[in-house]
Amino acid sequence: MQAISVFKRNTPQPPTFACFEDERRHRKQRLAAAFRLFSRFGFDEGIGGHITVRDPEQPENFWVNPLGMHFGLIRASDLILVNTQGEVIESNSPVNDAAFAIHSQVHAARPDVVAIAHAHSIYGKSWSSFGRLLDPLTQDACAFYEDHSVFDEYTGVVLELEEGKRIAQVLGTNKAVILKNHGLLTVGHSVDEAAWWLITMERSCQAQLLAEAAGKPSLIRPEIASLTHRQVGSHYIGWLNFQPLYEMVVRQEPDLLE
Ligand SMILES: [Zn+2]
Repeated sequence: MQAISVFKRNTPQPPTFACFEDERRHRKQRLAAAFRLFSRFGFDEGIGGHITVRDPEQPENFWVNPLGMHFGLIRASDLILVNTQGEVIESNSPVNDAAFAIHSQVHAARPDVVAIAHAHSIYGKSWSSFGRLLDPLTQDACAFYEDHSVFDEYTGVVLELEEGKRIAQVLGTNKAVILKNHGLLTVGHSVDEAAWWLITMERSCQAQLLAEAAGKPSLIRPEIASLTHRQVGSHYIGWLNFQPLYEMVVRQEPDLLE
């Protein structure tokens, strides 16, 4: 028991901030790092995909990647601030209309959500074409057990706020939604958490595609899947899983902090 309490005392914790300026810098640096990681994992698809984080001082506005810049080049200073009308209020770079249509409505519907990640990653979009929820095949997949949904109405590029609103409705109180024939979308209480859920959800899509291509995998039974969800699916665990990735990418690509 003592070993466990020592471990807990030394476990990293999400930071707190004395002023908005420090918190804004932190959020933007985490967002830039998340884009660098999405690039490394091959989640970019031209101009598709976006990650957003609320501004700490004006939480109705959010920071997002500029349209047309490769995820692998984004620095904190490249990020743009968008208001509720879709106007860029910091920077001269344009915003992706689909990013605004989806993210503005999810941020509006979920006041608890600080960050949202969306990507056209290869296994996520392959899996999305089935219009099926992920099964609890592995411990990692249980992070999404009874905590994700499927948006089952692909009607072309999301440019209407109404469609963003419907995506937010289908997401409900979950941490993720599979956009059928499109890709994955995840949310979190931090950039760290939202980005981690996207990374691990993509890998769970890959795992289920591999397992079903090879045979008939057996599922974790419901009560164990629920227990495992509580163990691996919390906001804190989502945040914690991102920390080693953040440290690696900052050490290797420190310009992202600029
Ligand atoms: Zn998309």
